[in-house]
Order: sequence, then structure tokens, then C-alpha cells
Amino acid sequence: MRRHYLQIPGPSPEPEEVLRAISATTIDHRGPEFQALGMRLLADVREVFQTADPVIIYSASGTGSWEAALVNALSPGEEVLFYAAGHFATLWCEMAERLGLVVRRIEADWRRAIDAERITKILQGDAGGAIKAVCVVHNETSTGILNDIPAVRAAIDAANHPALLMVDTVSGLASAEYRHDEWGVDVSIAGSQKGLMLPPGLGFNAISKKALAASKRAKMPRSYWDWEAIMDANERGFWPTTPSTNLLFGLEVALRMLREEGLHNVFERHERLARATRAAVRAWGLELTCLDEEAYSPIVTAVMMPAGFDADEFRTLVLDRFDMSLGTGLGQLAGKAFRIGHLGWTNEITLIGALGGVEMGLRLAGVPLAESGVEAAMEVLAEKAPSPV
Ligand SMILES: *Cc1c(COP(=O)(O)O)cnc(C)c1O
Repeated sequence: MRRHYLQIPGPSPEPEEVLRAISATTIDHRGPEFQALGMRLLADVREVFQTADPVIIYSASGTGSWEAALVNALSPGEEVLFYAAGHFATLWCEMAERLGLVVRRIEADWRRAIDAERITKILQGDAGGAIKAVCVVHNETSTGILNDIPAVRAAIDAANHPALLMVDTVSGLASAEYRHDEWGVDVSIAGSQKGLMLPPGLGFNAISKKALAASKRAKMPRSYWDWEAIMDANERGFWPTTPSTNLLFGLEVALRMLREEGLHNVFERHERLARATRAAVRAWGLELTCLDEEAYSPIVTAVMMPAGFDADEFRTLVLDRFDMSLGTGLGQLAGKAFRIGHLGWTNEITLIGALGGVEMGLRLAGVPLAESGVEAAMEVLAEKAPSPV
């Protein structure tokens, strides 16, 4: 029997309610029914960003939303500071270079969280304010590291520097605490296929007043990504071009489900599943990719493959035998690490299934295991399992 288990750190498993909503007949995106949906969604989506600022919804993947942030807020030749620890941070940084921005790149150990002091030091050396934006990743999906965004904000403030703070929370949003307003983020970037439990195809920019003011002066060429044109149409619940109507149907349901569970409980659930996953990894006797205990991701756990074993061969084996997809090692970690996603529509039972698949796969691959990780994970989950909501 074919029943595929998607255990990669995004796209994440989708609730049936969301899929059913998406399968509805597409409606006129210039009509009154759509307009009412647009008005509701543009108001409600702010809740997951914890913001009163406008949130723009693109038909795009997360990468498109990176580009939107850069081209709206900056001018060609301006300096941008990137903390390039991890595959996604690096890709975003390379995009900025290709777009003609002057990139100042902090190279750092991929297995460690952001060291905010390094940002302060660089900004203190930029008295003239040449650096216009600081770009960081909230949850680095390639390494399983959750970065401390308030610490990055504090680092910029400590240098008394006017740079904008741009944060990629593509995989962090709606899975881990995120506060666009309170944390003083200028542009928050997200996508639909991770914590929002939707298929890929929607991208998001939450935009502070400071970022909006910067966009009035910014000279990067932009057309499709232009905030202004979209915000004008959004005022009446519309988009300038055809939106992803059916994904928006799904977004409404996903936002309702998150609200009903309560964001706090959603974050708690992710923390609990992550703790259980790490307990499994330790019981197997394997090593986590993340070396900073306080930065373990609640969304994805990256695991180092022991020497002599190829992580991708192991993943192929798990797919062939158990029809489960695990995340591949990205960039520097290719072949060396695999990733277990525990985000989105995931709970105790689906996680134990996934960890069972990993454990069987490791045995079949001949990896020597210290103990049963599944048992260790069950112990963690049985301790504090709440009744299902
Ligand atoms: C998934 C992801 C992206 C890329 O999103 P796409 O939808 O593949 O363009 C960017 N950043 C992070 C942290 C991600 O997890």
C-alpha cells in the first residue's frame, strides 16, 4: 500500500481541511466574494507575524519573498550585511550579490547560532551608515538552528546603527515564537509550505513603517514585487495581478486552525516534538548538527551521519523501504547530515511513526545504534502529552 510520509522540513504535512478548501472551484478574483476573503485574510494574517504592519502576500516561493524584500527597500550598490551561517542564509546572500548589492558577509560555523556581537562590531565600524540592512535567518532549516532575533535587534541598537533588520522566517513562522513588531523587525519574510501547513506557492513580506519609508527612496528596479502597487490594491481586498486564489482559500483555513489551537500551544507542540526527536537521536548515539543547546530548532532536527555512512544513501533506503522522505543535507552538509522535519500538521503519533522509519532505516543501513530512539522519544512524549485539540 502506498502512503507517502513527508517528513522533510517543508513542505510540511497538510491538514485535510486545508486540502479540501484548496480543492474548491476558483472564483473571480475581481468579484465581491473574493474581495471579502481578501479583506479578511490581509487582516488575519498579521496575527501570525504578531504585527499591526501591512503583510503582503505574493504568489511566489520563499525565495521570491527574499527578492521582494531586497528590491523594495534598497538601491543598487548599497551595502547589506549578511550572517552567512547555513545554506539558506548563504543562498539569500548570493541573491543579494547577483542583484547588484554590495554584500558584507559574516562567515561563521554552520553548527552554531548567530553570535550577535559580531554584528555589533561590524556596525560600530560603520559610522557613516553605509550598511543599509542586516539580513539574518530566524530558523536555519539546513542546520536545525533557531536564531535569537531579539539579540540581533539588540546588537543593531547597541551600535546605534540605522540599518534595516530583515529576517527570513520562512520556516520559523507559525512554528516558533515570532514577533515582528515587538522584536523591531523591518521586513519579515515567509512562505506558505512550512509552519502555515499549506502547499508551496505563497510568499510573505511583513513591512515596518521604516521599511516602507525606505522603499519610497529605494532605486532597485522592481515591478512584480513592488510593494506599493500591491498595497494599493490590497486596501480594497484585491491584488494587481491574479492571486493564488485557491491557496488563499487554504490559508484562511490554516489561520483558523492555528488560532483555534492557540499560537502558544502550536509553539509548545513543536518544542515537545523537537525534544522527543533529540532524545531519539541521543539514544541512537548519533550527533546533532546544532552544537548550541539553547539554539535547538523546534521545527527541524538535523542529524550528523556517522563516519563511513552516506546520509543520502540512507535517505534513499528509507524512501524505498518505508515511503518516507527525510530532508537532505544541504550545502556543506550534503551527504553528511539528514534532517527530520517535525513542523506543520504533525503530532505525537505521526512523529513516532517517522522516528520508527528512521530507526528501521538506520538498522538496515548497518549503522550501529546504542539504544532505541523510538523508546526514548515515547518516554518524552508520554510524560506531558496533552489531550488532542
Ligand atoms: C524553505 C526555505 C526557504 C526557501 O523557500 P523556497 O520556498 O524554497 O523558495 C528560505 N529560507 C528558509 C529558512 C527556508 O526554510
